[in-house]
Amino acid sequence: MLKCPNCQSRDIGRLAANQYYCWNCFIELTINGDHFLTHQVEEDGSLSSLDDLFSEDERRIQDSF
Ligand SMILES: [Zn+2]
Repeated sequence: MLKCPNCQSRDIGRLAANQYYCWNCFIELTINGDHFLTHQVEEDGSLSSLDDLFSEDERRIQDSF
């Protein structure tokens, strides 16, 4: 199971092969190697990056696949 780097929730839904969505805090998580890229979906549907809110350590994917 994946864990959200923002809210630590495990309520993560899969959108695409490497793309996930946190149903708890509503951010999109894209797997990029061993890290997540984090995006917030704006009201107009565009994505804004949240990566600078997290350290590399926080965005590291802890669970192996
Ligand atoms: Zn979350």
